[in-house]
Amino acid sequence: MPYLAAADRYDRMTYRRTGRSGLKLPVLSLGLWQNFGEDRSFDAQRAIVRRAFDLGMTHFDLANNYGPPYGAAETAFGRLLASDLAPHRDELVISTKAGWDMWPGPYGVGASRKHLLSSLDQSLGRLGVDYVDIFYSHRPDPGTPLEETAAALDRAVRSGKALYVGISSYGADASRALAELLRELGTPLLIHQPSYSMLNRWVETEGLLDVAAEEGFGVIGFTALAQGLLTGKYLGGVPEGSRASSDGSIGAGMLAEPTLARIRGLDAIARRRGQTLAQMALAWALRDERVTSLVIGASRVAQLEENVAALDRLDFSAEELAEIDGFAGD
Ligand code: NDP
Repeated sequence: MPYLAAADRYDRMTYRRTGRSGLKLPVLSLGLWQNFGEDRSFDAQRAIVRRAFDLGMTHFDLANNYGPPYGAAETAFGRLLASDLAPHRDELVISTKAGWDMWPGPYGVGASRKHLLSSLDQSLGRLGVDYVDIFYSHRPDPGTPLEETAAALDRAVRSGKALYVGISSYGADASRALAELLRELGTPLLIHQPSYSMLNRWVETEGLLDVAAEEGFGVIGFTALAQGLLTGKYLGGVPEGSRASSDGSIGAGMLAEPTLARIRGLDAIARRRGQTLAQMALAWALRDERVTSLVIGASRVAQLEENVAALDRLDFSAEELAEIDGFAGD
C-alpha cells in the first residue's frame, strides 16, 4: 500500500537542539543496527520505519556494517526511502558511520582518511542518496592520528557528502581534542554517540557530558534499554524471539542474577511511577538536557509505541532519582 505520512506526526515528539548547532533532533531516534538485516522480513522493517516517522522520529541511525550481512541495513533503508520516504527527504536526518570492520584488508576498518571516505561513498551508494546528514567516525582508532580523522570528516562535509560530522565511543579527552581540531578546520563537531543507560553511566563519571557542554557538541546515547534488559522482558527467563534468544550480543553475564536483581528494583520504581521499565529507562537517560537524543532499537511496532509513550512522563523527583541510583550503575 502506498505510504501516506501521518498528518499529526509532529504533535507528540519533543525535539532538542544538538549542542550549539542549529540542528534539532527528536529525543528518540531509530537505530537500525539490529532488525534490519536480510534475516528479517522487509514488510516488518517497513512497518517499523513508517511508524517511527509517523511518531515524529525524524532521525534514522545507520552504519556501514549494520546487517547481516554488512551493508544490508543501509540497502533496506535505501529501498524504504525510494518507496516511501523520498518525498520527505528534507524532513529526515539520516546518519551513517565507518570504523568497525567492513571489508577485507587494511583499508576496510579504522578511522583513516582512506577508510572513512571510501566507506562513505559506499554508504551513499547503498542508501541511494547524494548526502547523509551526519557522518561518524564509529570508534577510536589508535592507529590513526586524530588530525587525520578530523581532516577526513571535514572533507566529507566540504565534498557535500555529509552535512554534519560526529564521533562515537571516543573518550572524553579524545573528544575534546577532536572538537578542537574540527573547529579549527571550520567543521564543528555536531555530536557524540556513546553508550548510556542505567546500567552504564561512563558518560557521567568519565566527564564526557561535561566536555560536550564545554565544547558545544550534542550527545546521542545508544542502548539506553541495554539491548532490552531494561524493558524487564528477561525477568522471567529468555522469551522466544527476543534478542537474547537469537543473537550473541547479549552475553550470559548480562543476564546473571546480580543484574536481574537490580532490574527488578528498577522495575518496581517504574511501576510506582505508572510507567513500564522501558519508559522509565528512556525518561531517565533524557533527564539531563546535555543528552540530545537516544537512539533506540525496536523489533516490532508495539515496542516503538510503548517507548515513545515515555514522553508522557519525563520528570523525576529527587527521591526517585536517589532511589534509582541505588540500583543504577556500571
Ligand atoms: P536498545 O537498548 O534500544 O535495545 C533495543 C532492543 O530492545 C529491541 O531491538 C528489542 O529487542 C528490545 N526492546 C525495545 N523496546 C522494547 C519494549 N518496549 N519491550 C520489549 N523489548 C523491547 O539498543 P540497540 O542495541 O538496539 O541499539 C540501538 C541503536 O543504537 C542501534 O540500532 C544503533 O543505531 C545504535 N548503536 C550504536 C553503537 C555504536 O557503536 N555507535 C553500538 C550499538 C548500538 P528484541 O525484541 O529483539 O528482544
